Amino acid sequence: MPRPTTMKNDMPNHAPSRPPLLLVHGGAGVIRATLTPAIEAEVKADLARALRAGHAILAAGGASLDAVEAAVVVLEDSPHFNAGHGAVFTHEGINELDASIMDGATRRAGAVAGVRHVRNPVALARAVMEKSGHVLLIGEGAEAFARHVGVPFVDAGYFRTGTRWQQLQEAIAKETAGQQSEQGRAIHYGTVGAVALDARGHLAAATSTGGMTNKRWGRVGDSPLIGAGTWADDRVAVSATGWGEYFIRAAVAHDIAARMAYGGSTLAEAAAAVIDGEVPRLGGDGGIIAIDAQGHCSLAFNTDGMYRGWIGADGIAHAAILAGDDA
Ligand code: ASP
Repeated sequence: MPRPTTMKNDMPNHAPSRPPLLLVHGGAGVIRATLTPAIEAEVKADLARALRAGHAILAAGGASLDAVEAAVVVLEDSPHFNAGHGAVFTHEGINELDASIMDGATRRAGAVAGVRHVRNPVALARAVMEKSGHVLLIGEGAEAFARHVGVPFVDAGYFRTGTRWQQLQEAIAKETAGQQSEQGRAIHYGTVGAVALDARGHLAAATSTGGMTNKRWGRVGDSPLIGAGTWADDRVAVSATGWGEYFIRAAVAHDIAARMAYGGSTLAEAAAAVIDGEVPRLGGDGGIIAIDAQGHCSLAFNTDGMYRGWIGADGIAHAAILAGDDA
């Protein structure tokens, strides 16, 4: 049964804000169980660094596309999130990384799935968008393309953290004990993402992840799928985090955009209908960050918390984790 859900949004009344605007997330889930004051401080500091990296670009008149890539790179490099360094492990003890990026003004998009040696998968997704003539490249082919365009490589061990290794051992032990019903539901999803509105009024979105702990058989979630984990057009930009199978089946990011485009919904209404409606109705959980062209923002989740942050024209970085935490 889907759990009861609530709409949680830290930006009061979805009031429009003046661009430039940047939102980031570092995953949704049952965060309270694992949060210590020390980890909370580090996570918030990393979210703020990501916001400042993107905001510096926007404040200098740069493009939303550059800002979301820069913010996601900071989060990929942090060990605290399930993307890049700190990504979760597959059943076989390997890190397989997925990422996507989309430019709202042009509707160009790029994505990669199942890469194992690319330091910043979001940068490779951007290269796919700009240099491959394709939208989604996977596995060895994606890495061959990465070598071709000169995206930095690392040894597979670069992505490993002790915490993620421990989580894999626990997931395998549970599975062996026959507790398969909870296998898909993660305590904390940890995917990262960013959405931005630049001074020219253009929107962009990017998402990056290691997927789900103990995944196998080449499993790919929503994060690299345009329309599921990531979407941007000239009306709205969306990046998602949550149980990917459900986010694919609900076409979360595009459904929010479509409700606004065809149904006349506001961003707040569209986000609520999907995150409090469609996703839990199917049995999934998670959240989204989104900005519309007027500067309305949504940080909506139906979980205990979502690592998230926002920065506006005043350049002050805000980071929050649990519901109602609007520091
Ligand atoms: N959505 C991601 C996936 O299913 C997981 C996450 O959000 O952390 O791959």
